Amino acid sequence: MRNIEHFIGGRSVAGTSGRHGDVFDPNAGRVQARVALADAAELDRAVASAVDGQRVWAQVNPQRRARVLFEFKRLLERDMDTLARLLSSEHGKVLSDARGDLQRGLEVIEFSCGIPHLLKGEYTQGAGPGIDVFSARQPLGVVAGITPFNFPAMIPMWMFGPAIASGNAFILKPSERDPSVPVRLAELMLEAGLPEGVLNVVHGDKDVVEAILAHPLIKAVSFVGSSDIAQQVYARGAAHGKRMQCMGGAKNHGIVLPDADIDHVISDLMGAAYGSAGERCMALPVVVPVGEETAERLRARLVEAIGELRVGTSFDADAHYGPVVTAAHKARIEGYIQAGVDEGAELVVDGRGFTMPGHEQGFFLKPCLFDRVTPEMRTYREEIFGPVLQIVRADSFEQALELPSRHQYGNGVTIFTRNGDAAREFAERVEVGMVGINVPIPVPVAYHGFGGWKRSGFGDLNQYGMDGVRFYTRTKIVTQRWPRGGASAHDFTMPTMQ
Ligand code: NAD
Repeated sequence: MRNIEHFIGGRSVAGTSGRHGDVFDPNAGRVQARVALADAAELDRAVASAVDGQRVWAQVNPQRRARVLFEFKRLLERDMDTLARLLSSEHGKVLSDARGDLQRGLEVIEFSCGIPHLLKGEYTQGAGPGIDVFSARQPLGVVAGITPFNFPAMIPMWMFGPAIASGNAFILKPSERDPSVPVRLAELMLEAGLPEGVLNVVHGDKDVVEAILAHPLIKAVSFVGSSDIAQQVYARGAAHGKRMQCMGGAKNHGIVLPDADIDHVISDLMGAAYGSAGERCMALPVVVPVGEETAERLRARLVEAIGELRVGTSFDADAHYGPVVTAAHKARIEGYIQAGVDEGAELVVDGRGFTMPGHEQGFFLKPCLFDRVTPEMRTYREEIFGPVLQIVRADSFEQALELPSRHQYGNGVTIFTRNGDAAREFAERVEVGMVGINVPIPVPVAYHGFGGWKRSGFGDLNQYGMDGVRFYTRTKIVTQRWPRGGASAHDFTMPTMQ
């Protein structure tokens, strides 16, 4: 059986804790590799290596640091197909989607290549007599990132791109469910010219996360995962005096006004609800048609479109989506489907009980559609994270606006309409962090920033964009005077601008 080891100090390091996790092949439904699970002593080794690496790296000027990222981009593009296959083989998403995962991460690397400009501070000449003031962004030192299973390439790059470009060393603790691509990314950074120890990958579960949160030499931690864990991690890291940003789960709504272009809505909803088997934090698992007529039209068209969806293995070029990540996750989704039925929602399309010929043990689930879901239902309030779309009918624009605004999650939301006034008002008033107007998955481009509101995000700064640079740097402000002539008289008053 293949072993997936840590990557510390520029080389593969076998686990010593004696603990391992199973990595599945979701298409075949069996264990394909074992991943080492680190303990605190192994983390210590990675941190020691990161401290040494950072000392060297911080002395490299920003333009040279950017060159390493330019080269990494070239190498990643060279290896795109191999990486996409590796990613699909552990996650289960189809190859075209795995390429998208890599590409969206690469876009943050491209943004980070602008680091010489992004790190520039501010300068005031003549703030007082002979006094100039300037600010500079300095790296924090050693920082860490803890990432979820659903984007094993993109989310690590969201984090280590700006962190490393800013002069930090980075410890990545990827999801133990699909850990191979993160290791390959670290190997490619080394090949691109990154000094040893600047990017380390330490695998593990909650034990090593605890150790990261308590480690005195780790200055900041970025986390992406489910909300309960995000909230706990945020609180524990902050209690240890660390800078924290923790992104959580989601329940994104797609509002459909009566004037929306229904053909576009249907094709957008298919991809956004069922793409990647619904395992995206920016998926659209809830659709809110406004008015009975819109609801009936939408439902009929959804049933028709779902009938044409093709579930296949990750390597089937015609498949729209592949298996979910593990048997445990499949069982959890099925549990939610049954709960929806039990609490009175109408299961219009039931995707359970499907086996893929030739892959009978694979973790496949066909698409499900629920209608007449109401805000009180548990299956509406909680995140399902599978190929399940719920219709929640609304009578009015106000009611449709209230649903995502009152929901515990506030990651993304989309409104489909031809009415500019309504769209503008919706975008202004809705209590959600990322809004799409006729855009089903409004993940912001790399030079903006990604972050949800309410229980979808804990902390003040978003992922990537300028917030990414702010998160991984601290500002130093220097006030300088070069006196001309002799010393002046002692002055015991507080210096002011009077
Ligand atoms: P998860 O919360 O199970 O795991 C995330 C990370 O936390 C992993 O690295 C895991 O090893 C670690 N972890 C697991 N249990 C822990 C514990 N008890 N204590 C400390 N650390 C622990 O999430 P997942 O299932 O890997 O990913 C799916 C979730 O991530 C969904 O809720 C999804 O919405 C969310 N997500 C959010 C965003 C965002 O940016 N808001 C992006 C992608 C995914």
